[in-house]
Amino acid sequence: MKPAQIVYRIRPSRPEAHLFEVRCTLATVDPAGQRFALPAWIPGSYLIRDFARHVVAIRAEAAGKPVALAKIDKHTWQAAPVNKTASLTVICEVYAWDLSVRGAHLDQTHAFFNGSSVFLRPLGGERLPCLVDLQPPLGDRYRDWRVATALVPASDVKGSARARGFGLYRAANYDEMIDHPVEMGRFALASFSACGVPHRVAISGRHDCDLDRLTADLKRICEYQIRFFGEPAPMPNYLFLVTAVGDGYGGLEHRASSALLCARDDLPYAGMKGTPERYRTFLGLCSHEYFHSWNVKRIKPAAFTGCDLGSENYTTLLWAFEGFTSYYDDLTLLRCGTITVDDWLGLIAATIDRVDRDPGRQRQSVAESSFDAWTKYYRPDENTPNEVVSYYAKGSLVALALDLTLRAATNGRCSLDQLMRALWQRHGEHERERHPGIGVGDDDIRLLAEELSGLDLTSFFAEAVHGTAELPLARLLKPFGIRLRREKGSATPSLGVKTSASGDELKLATVYQGSPAQAAGLSAGDLLIAIDGLRLTPSTLERLLCRRQAGTLVTVHAFRRDELMAFSVRLGPPTAGKHRLRIKQQGNALRKAWLRGQPAVLDELGDDRRLLDDDRRAPSACR
Ligand code: ZN
Repeated sequence: MKPAQIVYRIRPSRPEAHLFEVRCTLATVDPAGQRFALPAWIPGSYLIRDFARHVVAIRAEAAGKPVALAKIDKHTWQAAPVNKTASLTVICEVYAWDLSVRGAHLDQTHAFFNGSSVFLRPLGGERLPCLVDLQPPLGDRYRDWRVATALVPASDVKGSARARGFGLYRAANYDEMIDHPVEMGRFALASFSACGVPHRVAISGRHDCDLDRLTADLKRICEYQIRFFGEPAPMPNYLFLVTAVGDGYGGLEHRASSALLCARDDLPYAGMKGTPERYRTFLGLCSHEYFHSWNVKRIKPAAFTGCDLGSENYTTLLWAFEGFTSYYDDLTLLRCGTITVDDWLGLIAATIDRVDRDPGRQRQSVAESSFDAWTKYYRPDENTPNEVVSYYAKGSLVALALDLTLRAATNGRCSLDQLMRALWQRHGEHERERHPGIGVGDDDIRLLAEELSGLDLTSFFAEAVHGTAELPLARLLKPFGIRLRREKGSATPSLGVKTSASGDELKLATVYQGSPAQAAGLSAGDLLIAIDGLRLTPSTLERLLCRRQAGTLVTVHAFRRDELMAFSVRLGPPTAGKHRLRIKQQGNALRKAWLRGQPAVLDELGDDRRLLDDDRRAPSACR
């Protein structure tokens, strides 16, 4: 590596006030006046967050003397020109009180930060190598704090600070540096090896996690995914950085780590039997973020190769990068034996229900939802269910539909598994050799799927990805011996609304497009008071409705702001029942190959021994 041109130093300077002090020293500066900026967003989370709003103080100096610093827009500062030979240092204080995986959080118990929240980016110097000096907070009470990060240590500094993880780290450039979140504090640490790659799990916060159980389950997940894409793994080591709280959920992927937020009750405990739903959900989250190590961190949409951290970066492909990852997160749990086939079919049915519930699926395609993620999916409001489809949930059903289509039409010779491996080989491998990855263009996934399968998938992609037609899942599941059906729903007529309850108050969260409530003029935010003169509360709504018939005219009283209003609502039909997936044909060879994850079934379907022998075979073109 070339000598470092940029040196960062970060210290939790006042944990009780949630303040980091961050210094950035640049050896070579722009003679016209060096500019520095903080990112407006963090890769993996498609919302403008304007991290610079948390910079509470900033100054610059060169050769020990102050240098004037002017703010030129919401996240950029420009230093006055300095002598070419002098190094320039910018010192800022950053407020950190966002307990999420996307920002920075600091108090007396721990420090967590993403580089995008704290490290200024010298404009024009983004490609220069960086050194990062992680410093502990001053004072005896922090003497036992340690560091957990996947950043690469830069020096052989010895001593207790280094033993605890403090000191110098290096990164090839700014993007790499900010792709390694850092935790400082007191955390539980466990390690395991997956396909020879060292993995660690650091859990901060109060918890009673059974680390042996967790590492055993994670090892299976990681080994499955490494072998899925093919050894060696693209990362030299990996860190699951977990923050356990009373209630919380979130994850963000990085190239050699993931930041995870969970409820402490989601974690396994000593003596726990089986895999309770909460723990299964947590493992699904870990599996999801780990799969992103390939799918989005190294196989990227073209729009994200060399992306602009100052403004929105548009891609129509999040349905593939988030949707396919959502499909494989739980499928990984099934294939490595963490959950049963029935569990998995239940999860698929729940996703179908989730997509089916909201009219947004009929108004927006997953390609449009991807493109508009910045202003729609990531900025939900009361009308979101009517206008927006989730590229996660529907994207995972598109993955399911594509997988089933490829497998059924090629008699098991081609699958989404092979498509993922082909994407990795064509669009991801170069990253490993430090060449810029080749971005995935808008049509590349269809073209590659057609090349591998020999099928014409024009209408599949037009309907499933760019259209809003219902996915024909029942028909697609049939050749796999699985029946998709709706259960009988309740007989209670509906208003066509989503409500939110607070104590005894019942409010309308969403009024669905085309619903009886909308026709009557009820609106999101209305506080429901009564139906036909009888008080409405969260506990009486169902009781009052179930005694009436669809088509009946009722009077609903509601407050809009402080004004009492009356609405005549003609009750609609009951909401449809939930979906259910059931295995109807035992010993279906196509299904076995699919659920076990063999790359190819070959022609002699039904030979179970052969299916097992083919397990994890290297993929090949399947035309
Ligand atoms: Zn994701």
